[in-house]
Amino acid sequence: MNIYLIVILVFLSLDYFTRLVLTLLNRSHMKAEPKPEVQGIYNQEQYLKSQQYQRDNSKLQIISGALGFVLLMGMLYFHAFAWFDDIAREVFSHPILHGLVFFGLLGLAADLISLPFDLYGTFVIENRYGFNRTNAATFLTDKIKGWFLAILLGGLAILLLIGTWQLFGFWFWLPAWGLITLIILALSSYGSIIIARFFNKLSPLEAGELKEKIHTYAQKVNFPVRDIYVMDGSRRSSKANAYFTGLGKVKRIVLFDTLIQKLSSDQVVAVLAHEAGHYKKEHINKLLFVSIVQSGVMLFLLSLALSVPELSAAFGVNYHSFHIGLLAFVLLYTPISFVMGLFGNIVSRKFEFEADAYTAETGYASALADALKNLSAENLSNLTPHPAYVFFNYSHPDLASRLGKLVQNVK
Ligand SMILES: [Zn+2]
Repeated sequence: MNIYLIVILVFLSLDYFTRLVLTLLNRSHMKAEPKPEVQGIYNQEQYLKSQQYQRDNSKLQIISGALGFVLLMGMLYFHAFAWFDDIAREVFSHPILHGLVFFGLLGLAADLISLPFDLYGTFVIENRYGFNRTNAATFLTDKIKGWFLAILLGGLAILLLIGTWQLFGFWFWLPAWGLITLIILALSSYGSIIIARFFNKLSPLEAGELKEKIHTYAQKVNFPVRDIYVMDGSRRSSKANAYFTGLGKVKRIVLFDTLIQKLSSDQVVAVLAHEAGHYKKEHINKLLFVSIVQSGVMLFLLSLALSVPELSAAFGVNYHSFHIGLLAFVLLYTPISFVMGLFGNIVSRKFEFEADAYTAETGYASALADALKNLSAENLSNLTPHPAYVFFNYSHPDLASRLGKLVQNVK
C-alpha cells in the first residue's frame, strides 16, 4: 500500500476517534450536577427536556459521523476518487474544467449523503422540541441557493487556484494568497450582508424604545453603528442570535427578530454591548489578520504537496493533477486543522470573556447575565458539558463560567 495513503488513513482515524471519544464523554457527563451558577435556569421538566434534546442531537451526530468516516475510508481504500476523476475527465479534458467537475461531483455526492441527516435534524429533532419553523419550500429554496453560492464561490476559488498554479507553478501560492486575501476582505466588509440578504429579509429596526436605547449606548461608548437591521430568522427557527459586521468605521448590526421577541430592550442592548466589546478590543481585526496569515501558510503547504507527484498514486490516479494534489493536501492537513481549530477555540473563548468584561465595564453585566440565561433556557442549552469537550469544541465559554465572571463584575 502507498505510504501516503497509510499516513492519510492514520490521520483520519486519529481525528475521527478523538472526536468520537469527546462526544461520548460529553454524553456521559450529563449525569453530573449542574454548577450553582446555572441552577434555576430550568425547572425540572425543562431540564430533563434539555438533556433529551442534547442526547437526540449527539446520537444523530454519532451516526452521521460514523457513516461519513466509514465511507471516506472505503473510498480511499478502494480508490473511488480515481473513479470520480475518470468521470470528470470524460466530461472535460481541459485541466481547469476537469478540476471543477471533479470537485462538483464530490460536493454533490457529499451533499446527497448528508441530506437525510439534515432532513432528520430539521424536521424530526428540531420539530420535536418546537424549534423548527422551516417548511419544505424554505428548505428546498435554501438548498438551491446554497448550491448556487457553493458553485459561485467554490468554483471561483478553484478556478483561481488552478489558474495561478498553471501560470506560476510552485510560486502560485503568492499571487493566490493575494487574491484570496482580497476575497476575505470583501466578504468581511460587504459580503456578509449581501449573503444574509440572499437568504433572509433584512429590514431597518423600527423607531422606538429599543432603537433609542441602542443609539444612546452606541454614542456613549463611541461605537460607530451605521445601520441596524432586523432579520427574519423566525422563518427557519425559533432560536435567537445577533451579530455585527463591517470593517473600519462602518458597522452594521443584524438582530434576529426572535432575539427582539425574547429579550427585554435592556437585554438586547447588553447583547449589543458584548458585540461592541469585540470591536473595542480589536477582536475582529485580530481574527482577520490571523485568517489571512493562516491562508498564506495553507497555500504554501499546498504548493509543497503539489510538488510531490507520488501523492496522486495514493488515490490510484497515475498522473499528476492539481485537483488530486489539493484533495491529498486537505486530507493530510487534518491534524494541523485539528490543532488550529483547538487553538482558535481557546483564543475565541478568551475574546468572549473580554467582550463580556467590556459589557460589564459599560454597565450591562446583570442585563447580559439575564440575556444569556434567557437564551440558554430558550435554546435548551447543555448545562453540564464535559470540560474536555468544552476545551476542544466550544468557541464560547460554557454558560456557568461566563455567568460566574459576570457576577464577579457586578459586585
Ligand atoms: Zn461574542
